[in-house]
Amino acid sequence: MKSTEEYFGSLVFDEKVMRERLSDEVYSSMKRTIDQGEKLDLQVANAVASAMCSWAVEHGATHFTHWFQPLTGITAEKHDGFISPSHDGRIIMEFSGKELIKGEPDASSFPSGGLRATFEARGYTAWDPTSFAFIKGKTLCIPTAFCSYGGEALDKKTPLLRSMEALNKQALRILRLFGNDSVKQVKPVVGPEQEYFLIDREMFLKRKDLIYSGRTLFGAKPPKGQELDDHYFGAIKPRVQSFMDDLNEELWKLGVFAKTEHNEVAPSQHELAPIYGSANIATDHNQLTMEIMKRVAEKHGLVCLLHEKPFAGVNGSGKHNNWSLSTDTGINLLSPGETPYENAQFLLFLVAVIQAVDDYQSLLRLSVATAGNDHRLGANEAPPAVISVFLGDELSAVLDAIEKDIPYEGTERKKIRLGTDVLPRFTRDTTDRNRTSPFAFTGNKFEFRMVGSGDSIACANIMLNTAVAESLKQFADRLGEAEDFDSALHDLIRETISKHKRILFNGNGYEDAWIKEAVEKRGLLNLRTTPDALVRVLDDRNMKVLVSHGVFSESEVRSRYEIQMENYVRTVRIEALTMCDMAMKEILPAVSGYSASLACVISEKKAADGSLACRYELKTLSKLSSLVDEIDEASDELKEKIDHLDQIGDITKQAYYVRDEIIPAMQTLRLPCDEAETDTASEYWPFPTYGDLLFAV
Ligand code: ADP
Ligand code: MG
Repeated sequence: MKSTEEYFGSLVFDEKVMRERLSDEVYSSMKRTIDQGEKLDLQVANAVASAMCSWAVEHGATHFTHWFQPLTGITAEKHDGFISPSHDGRIIMEFSGKELIKGEPDASSFPSGGLRATFEARGYTAWDPTSFAFIKGKTLCIPTAFCSYGGEALDKKTPLLRSMEALNKQALRILRLFGNDSVKQVKPVVGPEQEYFLIDREMFLKRKDLIYSGRTLFGAKPPKGQELDDHYFGAIKPRVQSFMDDLNEELWKLGVFAKTEHNEVAPSQHELAPIYGSANIATDHNQLTMEIMKRVAEKHGLVCLLHEKPFAGVNGSGKHNNWSLSTDTGINLLSPGETPYENAQFLLFLVAVIQAVDDYQSLLRLSVATAGNDHRLGANEAPPAVISVFLGDELSAVLDAIEKDIPYEGTERKKIRLGTDVLPRFTRDTTDRNRTSPFAFTGNKFEFRMVGSGDSIACANIMLNTAVAESLKQFADRLGEAEDFDSALHDLIRETISKHKRILFNGNGYEDAWIKEAVEKRGLLNLRTTPDALVRVLDDRNMKVLVSHGVFSESEVRSRYEIQMENYVRTVRIEALTMCDMAMKEILPAVSGYSASLACVISEKKAADGSLACRYELKTLSKLSSLVDEIDEASDELKEKIDHLDQIGDITKQAYYVRDEIIPAMQTLRLPCDEAETDTASEYWPFPTYGDLLFAV
């Protein structure tokens, strides 16, 4: 058996393979493309393609695909064989530079929000040499961007790369002002912690709601949920452990640095965290991770649920997007330094993020807005929909002292003059992990905790990168003009703290009192649902920042708005239809069947001794008959509303109708169904219950 070191990355065409298989000249040209974004000429591409092909064929590949991330949120691939006819009527395996650089999938069925008129339906994919090619099954996958012929981005990778470039440009300006000329590149680096549920596959297949929508739409509370806190970090069960072992092996072969695994709060809930890397690669790897999780689960007779809220009443799943800024010289710009200058620089980057989060709350919120995530963010669960920044007590006290120009009461009592004094040492705040904060500083990185478990992390990072690029741009403009840099820096940091401290909050973000304070006293946004959040992308300020940093064109923003609204409407519509279907075809027949058996017992007893001493049967029968009526009525009402929804032409109006009419009607249907479940004998209930699903594995 191969050791982990041996098989790690064995299915990746990485730098090691390139060094072995490319000529020195081609390798260094390729390296310049990867590190500095230099354009690659066709000759080099041909050499790389040919090396890739023979390497892939040796590893059992027969096909290649341009692997891309359309706006559906999952990855797409169209496989082409390497085979090509040879003179003697047989075949050779070949792959050209042209095929490597550019592909033309028939892309008319991918959402484009009107960007790509159907008459010119062909978008094209373009190789992203900064993310390594890899083999999945028998296919060589080449990470690519996906664009229309007009050059508009039809995917998530293109704007992500653009936002990284914008951030790089502005961060370098700041570093130059600090006299740093050696850093050539600043990159956002990301470590996404991925939560998921594992349930038994047989049970999954018995529930239409899980099959069609990835979450349960019905289900009474089981006697036991997560109240004993006995699952979090608990011993991992053998079946789950064997899934995790397999998953790690698959991911490691693909060069994904899967590192940490543990049980999460809810029963059957788990988490996987990789080691952080460049935002672009972290995004690709997270997409791969989700895909491989599903595939490996299947092999173990399990299903991996990535939905944000598969079960009502227990914790939902998210993704903690750990984010910081790293230089090509290996420095983390969000790490407090040792010298006065490093400290001042750290504080400047810190307040740049604080300002970015305050100024662009709505962009961050809408970057994670989906129908699924509304069950977490807009409901009684952490994190809330209101965005705030947690810094911990110590760092907050430092900022407070700077702002008020008062002595910092740390180990030494002294006033802090930035740029001249060494900052008091503050340690990572360990007293309060504050899981309720949507955006927490954890020592040397920020953790954005609102991302949904099933979503791509691309959008969150696009918005975060862009918002921070904008703060840095404003800072660089101002500091660049200053005569006395130190004083200007000091003033800038003080002013920024004072202007944006309303976004800082160390308390419990989960409490109603906070939401009230945030909205009423601090004027922070509380965008509870997806439509509320999404419309904000059209606000002037938001549009301007995205366009001015070259991250999106205006038409790209508008098309994305439409696609996401559509996605919201369609997702909920599928759920609503599934509910009607389950209510009519499964729940009502079951309840009515059980009622009939109760009625039978009652009449038998009556016939036997003329008595009506059937306390349980009578009580239950009467309760169930009224529930049956309620269910029937609620189901009719929901159906009518779906019909009405289909009559509405405008997508924004549709989304509001879904929010205000369809979702409440779904809730109205769920209640009597869940109640009926508690009163119906198990053998009659048509599908596995919460207890079965959550505690079976
Ligand atoms: P936690 O205490 O939140 O579990 P960890 O140290 O376990 O923190 O890290 C969680 C995730 O954050 C991991 O994916 C890790 O690689 C990533 N991470 C750690 N340091 C950084 C950093 N400087 N920038 C970005 N991500 C980071
Ligand atoms: Mg964490």
